[in-house]
Amino acid sequence: MPSGTATHCPYCALQCAMTLSPAAVPGAGFPGADVPTSENAPAATPLLEVAGREFPTNRGGLCRKGWTSAALLGHAGRVTEPLLKGSDGVHRPVSWDQALMLVTAAVKDSWARHGHDSVGVFGSGGLTNEKAYQLGKFARLALRTSRIDYNGRFCMSSAAAAGNRAFGVDRGLPFPVEDLDSASVILLLGSNVAETMPPFVQHLQGARDAAGLIVVDPRRSATAAFTGNGGGIHLQPLPGTDLALILGISHVVLHEGLADTAFLEERTNGHKSVLRSLSAFWPERVQSITGVPATLIRETARRLARAARLAKDEGHGGCYILSGRGVEQHVDGTDTATAAINLSLLLGLPGSARSGYGTLTGQGNGQGGREHGQKADQLPGYRKITDPAARAHMAKVWGVDESLIPGAGLPAVEFLKSLGQPDGVRCLFVHGANVAVSAPDAGAVIAGLRSLDFLVVCDFFMSETAAEADLVLPVAQWAEEEGTMTNLEGRVIRRRRALTPPPGVRTELWLMSRLAELLDAPSTFSDDPRTVFEELRLASAGGLADYSGIDYDMLDAGGAAYWPYPVGSTGTPRLFADGFAHADGRAAMVAVIPSRRAQRSFASAAEPDSLALATGRLLEHYQSGAQTRRVAELSASQPEARLQLHPETAARRGIVDGGLVTVTNERGEVQVRAEVNTAIRPDTVFLPFHFPGAGSANRLTEAATDPISGMPEFKTSRVWVKAVTAEPALAAAAVSSHRKEES
Ligand code: SF4
Repeated sequence: MPSGTATHCPYCALQCAMTLSPAAVPGAGFPGADVPTSENAPAATPLLEVAGREFPTNRGGLCRKGWTSAALLGHAGRVTEPLLKGSDGVHRPVSWDQALMLVTAAVKDSWARHGHDSVGVFGSGGLTNEKAYQLGKFARLALRTSRIDYNGRFCMSSAAAAGNRAFGVDRGLPFPVEDLDSASVILLLGSNVAETMPPFVQHLQGARDAAGLIVVDPRRSATAAFTGNGGGIHLQPLPGTDLALILGISHVVLHEGLADTAFLEERTNGHKSVLRSLSAFWPERVQSITGVPATLIRETARRLARAARLAKDEGHGGCYILSGRGVEQHVDGTDTATAAINLSLLLGLPGSARSGYGTLTGQGNGQGGREHGQKADQLPGYRKITDPAARAHMAKVWGVDESLIPGAGLPAVEFLKSLGQPDGVRCLFVHGANVAVSAPDAGAVIAGLRSLDFLVVCDFFMSETAAEADLVLPVAQWAEEEGTMTNLEGRVIRRRRALTPPPGVRTELWLMSRLAELLDAPSTFSDDPRTVFEELRLASAGGLADYSGIDYDMLDAGGAAYWPYPVGSTGTPRLFADGFAHADGRAAMVAVIPSRRAQRSFASAAEPDSLALATGRLLEHYQSGAQTRRVAELSASQPEARLQLHPETAARRGIVDGGLVTVTNERGEVQVRAEVNTAIRPDTVFLPFHFPGAGSANRLTEAATDPISGMPEFKTSRVWVKAVTAEPALAAAAVSSHRKEES
């Protein structure tokens, strides 16, 4: 292992292990470092070099994002001092003392004029556990507001709601990721891991070798392509019909006598009503809804059941069902994840030694970030803010009267709709989120940001959200801070400081600590990560996500800490072997069917002129792209959004590969170049969501939400696509070439 600082990648929830060392040639450490970024900032100046490090999730591998992550540490476009927007709209430096005074005055003014709930906090699944924990406490005790939520609502909320409902607990993977290696069948629902977290793909290889990788995706994504050459099956449903597809597979399991009835009787409640509800989803009907051939629906069910049986009866192989954002980011996302869980329970997978169900967390600390209090309805340890016992526990830990802890706030989409409204948020703090690009109906969100009385954004770059801010506060980057993250397995890991931040930069813990003092907040607010983690241990003790037995020293010694990890235990790598987290130890099965709205969207997408828009990610970029668009190598490779569409769809509209197109609906319009290929259904188009401005996919997505989780609908917007330039010759050539291909 090379010498240096052992830490983890700043980006996704796989949290690949890496070592950071001083760059051999500072300022020239990365290929392409002298290529200007898409933001026209000066070139990156890497201060550190990255090397992959052995760890079970990545086994030494990193993706392109990880390899280039240090480029941002010395980036010349970094915000390194507080910036205040003048009346001319230009941001100019102010001192930290001035900045803190301005924030304090803005909060007090908002309290006086509009009440405590006029101040809001928007957090992130990228924050360390310490920062996420302290942010929840800061909002409730220092800002005295219930209005806190975070961007994980856009990511994990439906899977979390479904997990809590079925199992009584939400831990993305209830088993170590290495367990997947021995599986003979893996059903991957709506996740393109080959692009979002490439080192994860090695854990699918066993299933692929056994011809058992089954990928559900409307696109022939890089992951779906792994099913080729006998690797498995690719099911390509119309966007928004995943729930019907899962019900169809479940129908076959039930009606062909493939269900594990002993497991259902012994370990579940509610299975009888689920079994009854499946009768309407016979394969031919599901084919008519989803476009997936009935033969493949039957084949999928049989392969899953065979693998589940072999694993149980002969201790051979294994069977896993994994879900991702593709099936969860819908208005019926909780029900779709519930259907996937029901299917896994029908097969008797959860809690089995070689099988299971899991959801793949996206953001770096998407797991820990949803456990310790930055959700509107939550207190640390995955406690409910409405639970009197949880409130009493936290009041004791914080040393305050319980009445000082506000009630539940608003989930993210409702929160953002309230910006600038009479009873809404008027003074907003944003930490680690770029809602101007990442939120649904982004045009309306930007208008909301502009209507605020005061907007404070804590960031290290001038993101699109920071550009709207009255005050931008420069904060430390990942390699400049200590802390912990919780990866997609529910394993707590250490983030370590390898670099001193620039002189004008502060940590968010420091900022909260100083503001709490200026606002005369009760309790204590430390700026030391280890001290905050010690408090988090106490706060989480006895909760579902119990970290009380974990400390920095054991993590530094290499301990594998999977929660729940109460004091005196050795942690819980695998959940559910002895029972589920509901009081009676049984899993709760809930019958679900596609919503009326989803059924309407099938019909809409079938209209000849409109197309179903799915949004998603590219290999080179992370989330809103605020970071990766500034990495020269990544930006050079993927500088702009491109609309993927099928040749048939393109030809009908006179669109050629590389040509400019407009994509419109009632919410907005984007203008991007076309990428024409057969890897997508003719009734569907795909747009990555990492880009701002004219290429911003979220100008088109709808702020409609899942009624249980608050998850927005990101995957099935209805759009109209047109060629921009009237180039009759090109259009005619496209149609003619398509006809030749058909004949
Ligand atoms: S897969 Fe995720 S954690 Fe690993 S290097 Fe890539 S972005 Fe980083």
